[in-house]
Amino acid sequence: MHILIANLGSTSFKYRLYQMDGSNGVVIATGGFERVTNHEEVINQALADLIDQGNLNSINDIDAVGFKTVLGKDLSGCVDADDTVIAALEGFREVAPAHNPPYAEGIRQFRQILPDARLVALFETAFYQWVPQAAARYAVPKEWHDVGIRRYGFHGASHKFVAERSAELMGRNDVAESVRGLYVNGPQEVSGEPLRVISFHLGGSSSVTGIRNGIAIGTSMGFSPQSGLPQNNRVGDLDSGALPYATKALGITMEEAERQLTKESGLQGVSGVSNDLRDICEAAGGGNKDAQLALDMLIDSARHWASSFLFELGGLDTIVFTAGIGENNPWLRKAICAGLENFGVIIDEEKNAACMASEAFISSDDSKVKIAVIPANEELVLAREVYRKIN
Ligand code: ADP
Repeated sequence: MHILIANLGSTSFKYRLYQMDGSNGVVIATGGFERVTNHEEVINQALADLIDQGNLNSINDIDAVGFKTVLGKDLSGCVDADDTVIAALEGFREVAPAHNPPYAEGIRQFRQILPDARLVALFETAFYQWVPQAAARYAVPKEWHDVGIRRYGFHGASHKFVAERSAELMGRNDVAESVRGLYVNGPQEVSGEPLRVISFHLGGSSSVTGIRNGIAIGTSMGFSPQSGLPQNNRVGDLDSGALPYATKALGITMEEAERQLTKESGLQGVSGVSNDLRDICEAAGGGNKDAQLALDMLIDSARHWASSFLFELGGLDTIVFTAGIGENNPWLRKAICAGLENFGVIIDEEKNAACMASEAFISSDDSKVKIAVIPANEELVLAREVYRKIN
């Protein structure tokens, strides 16, 4: 079975073609186009390239196309990418302006170009469908809630993969099996002790999720990916009172304020150095105090969210780090886990330092809570979810 994963940006199109052997996927081709002005043209070009290179005999060899859609109005899950999905993406186009319009358009194009392939959308919000109301609702008037202003959560593909893989690593195949089928069967009862996980997805954008028996109980991102931890150049959490005050105090329009909060804030805004954590670490090492503050804020915010889930979970079995920073920055992992020996969290300095972009436990043998690094592979996660959906 061939599954094509389509990554659509407003001026880009990237793809990976997977050959699936059960839910294991092997990438057989990748490609992409930048500075795209006509998506239809480059999709046709990509398909022609796949045939020319011998990866496909004809376009009919593509069984399914997967789209990692971000946020839909009144819709989530892993679903057939039909008119309902397009309407849901259009309904929230201003909340995810960089993502929703190109995905809505891309799904339309693929429908015409590959009428016989199954098109599947996996929303980044899908993993949070079962978060209790008390954690998902904002204390806004009912009318606000009714137009969709609530906590959605993002990075769902990554955190769900962490839920599945960490359960396997912890020897909890019952939980892993339940997570595998989550979008097809919904949550399943599992017996025995609960498996309680805190997942740190730390990358260009970051979020922390609490997971019980494979189901998310809450996450740091809310209505938009503009919330939670300080992001590379986006603000993260901000008091709603600050925005109207800032427009007056700074004499700027709401649009300009939004631009600054989404483009010039976060780690970039605080450090004044870069939106890449490697540059910020280097500057902090050289004595730059603003860079050090940006690092301290990221650590503080990650710990703040994790501790809220610790209370909610009533204990903890596993901590997982994933994504660019989580996989590659031992120093930050150590700082996040520092001083938690009384809670049974003890990192092994050697294992931690040795673990770069590979899967490993990095806790000491006497740590009650296991600490793991699990590399993210969001395209593969998507290919697997598409496979599970259509089989
Ligand atoms: P995105 O969210 O855009 O997919 P990533 O998950 O790749 O981004 O994360 C990007 C972040 O990961 C950057 O801040 C970068 O500094 C950090 N990062 C990536 N690779 C490394 C590395 N080898 N060592 C340290 N940090 C890294």
